[in-house]
Amino acid sequence: MQQQRLYVDGRWRDSASPATIEVVDPATDEVFGVAPRGCAADVDAAIAAAARAQPGWAALPAAERIAALDRIRAGLQARADEAAALITREMGAPLWFSRQAQLGLPLKNLEIAARAMAQLAAQPEEVIASTRVVRDPVGVVAAITPWNFPLHQITAKLAPALAAGCSVVLKPSELTPFDAGLLAEVIDAAGLPPGVFNLVSGSGAEVGEPLVTHPLVDMVSFTGSTTAGRRIAALAAPLMKKLALELGGKSANIVLPDVALAQALPVVLKQGWANSGQACACLSRVLLPRALYAAAQAQLVALAAQWRVGDPLDPDTQLGPVASRAQQARVQALLRSGIEQGARLLCGGVEPPAGRARGAYVQPTLLADVQPWMRVAREEIFGPVIGLTPYDEEDEAVAIANDSDYGLSGGVWAADRAAAERVARRLRTGQVVINGSPLNLQAPFGGVKQSGIGREYGHHGLHEYFALKALQGAA
Ligand code: NAD
Repeated sequence: MQQQRLYVDGRWRDSASPATIEVVDPATDEVFGVAPRGCAADVDAAIAAAARAQPGWAALPAAERIAALDRIRAGLQARADEAAALITREMGAPLWFSRQAQLGLPLKNLEIAARAMAQLAAQPEEVIASTRVVRDPVGVVAAITPWNFPLHQITAKLAPALAAGCSVVLKPSELTPFDAGLLAEVIDAAGLPPGVFNLVSGSGAEVGEPLVTHPLVDMVSFTGSTTAGRRIAALAAPLMKKLALELGGKSANIVLPDVALAQALPVVLKQGWANSGQACACLSRVLLPRALYAAAQAQLVALAAQWRVGDPLDPDTQLGPVASRAQQARVQALLRSGIEQGARLLCGGVEPPAGRARGAYVQPTLLADVQPWMRVAREEIFGPVIGLTPYDEEDEAVAIANDSDYGLSGGVWAADRAAAERVARRLRTGQVVINGSPLNLQAPFGGVKQSGIGREYGHHGLHEYFALKALQGAA
């Protein structure tokens, strides 16, 4: 049975509350661990420690903070297999995928933030006429993270925050507390000054909200649903806390008529179904030229038959279960609504895959004739479900893609790269993936509209953790 405690002020301690969270393996429905269900008193202790530690941490030369990040990366690398196995148990991703992506991304985040900070520290401070512009670390950061890429989302905040000279109190998702606990062990072994990093596990209401409203928290960096993001923004408003909000998405993948379907479609499926569609930037709305619509459907169905859903420990498994029974029920309800509203089921369906009654399994599903007004076209499904919509003109495709409350990501496929870029520039999103280009963790990531505020990754992500100060007359 997996167990852990809170990590506050450089040591492991029990929560002030006896309550616990039972963590369920979504592949088996079995409880495999218990984590503390923290409370407001734990939050007070963690923030007090973070506030005490922050000025000293910020005063260190950048090279020392960078060296600490490098030690954390080396420590995590050494325990990567163990961390990957934990994540697989927590949220169901196939073990090979956990090793490759769920650990590969965090290791890169740590490296990229360290290098971005080294570059920034080497640059002269900006001078504007008689003013020198200096960067102050924002201060104490509350990091609140989701379960879908748990260590990735944590390190996307933690690495730049620590590099910049901020201290951090982390509240991971209640579904995935143990990979965060492993990271806390790594950080402990890396020898950071006490209080620079603190971990308080627990629920959004009992730990997240006290963090957001605490007067000593200077910035809230949140990744999660738009619903929770709205609540956090409202709670943070009275004290004008700095916010970085990475929220939901409902991103469109536009296939232009000159495309070679055989090259594009295998990747189009990955862009919608990888991690069982539990990716904020997944491309779940596929827009196809009407002339290619029938051929694309036939090819997609044939390709979909090669996707194996099953035991996440089996190396031949492409998709494990979704992260929880609650997530399974949400996906099934939205799928049902899609079929009721007139979408046509091409493959997959509402029922779990054959022989998978135990566990939170969902069949990878293709819906055709999805209309832009349907719930499956407007709401984030966060499951392995792709909707297909035909279009006649490029302008219509762009209009359908932009007809969304969200603006996180998008995709364009075209043989003519200039045409692809022309369409990409017209999309109102924070990023657009051209011809299946791999994720670049040095480029800015984030959303417009209801997909959030701020950017993560690379030097743009690092800049979020500074406040500019103008020293008038200093130059
Ligand atoms: P969620 O919003 O339910 O929870 C995310 C985190 O916020 C958890 O730690 C949760 O405990 C906490 N939380 C919930 N309510 C809170 C409150 N009122 N105050 C403070 N904290 C609160 O999201 P989830 O189900 O864990 O993750 C799925 C969602 O995350 C999807 O909507 C997905 O699009 C989004 N997401 C976005 C990105 C991105 O970068 N844009 C990345 C991954 C996931």
